[in-house]
Amino acid sequence: MSVLDEVLAFNQEFVDSGEYAQFITNKFPERHVAILSCMDARMVELLPKALGLKNGDAKLIKNAGALVTHPFGSVMRSLLVGIYQLEVKEILVIAHMDCGMRSLHADEILNRAKEAGITQEAIDTLINAGIDLESWLKGFDNVEDSVRHTVSMIKKHPLFPKHIPVHGLVMHPATGKLSTVVHDRDAAQ
Ligand SMILES: [Zn+2]
Repeated sequence: MSVLDEVLAFNQEFVDSGEYAQFITNKFPERHVAILSCMDARMVELLPKALGLKNGDAKLIKNAGALVTHPFGSVMRSLLVGIYQLEVKEILVIAHMDCGMRSLHADEILNRAKEAGITQEAIDTLINAGIDLESWLKGFDNVEDSVRHTVSMIKKHPLFPKHIPVHGLVMHPATGKLSTVVHDRDAAQ
């Protein structure tokens, strides 16, 4: 049985039993917050529970490392949509200790890709086309520095409004304990 089969079987039961009723809410986040966090599986339930968030409370954006890698990529766009369309008034960037993106280098990913059948020619074609795989596939060395960098990328964006605070935090992936890296008191509230 594939994961999809398991998921579909469970879903049928979930809908039929009316279990969804407890989650009904609307698209505007009740706590007016958007959270950019890592996709790490340990934080699927831990993150909302450790923050005291329930369904409907927050906009949750996840990727590998809780990073904004491009000022005009999908993460930045999601944050701006949250602010201008969905009543988001505060942003939390939450990375975590022991992240898979720490000390990740492009070579590791490209070697695995080659093992999976991607040819060196395909990789060379991308590099020759000017795609900087080295930076694109690179992780970070220090999680706090990475959070500071991400917060600053968001705040410096030309379309980002000055009155929205952007805070940076690091979570312990076992206990859910948060450490504050950036407490944004400067946003003109
Ligand atoms: Zn992570």
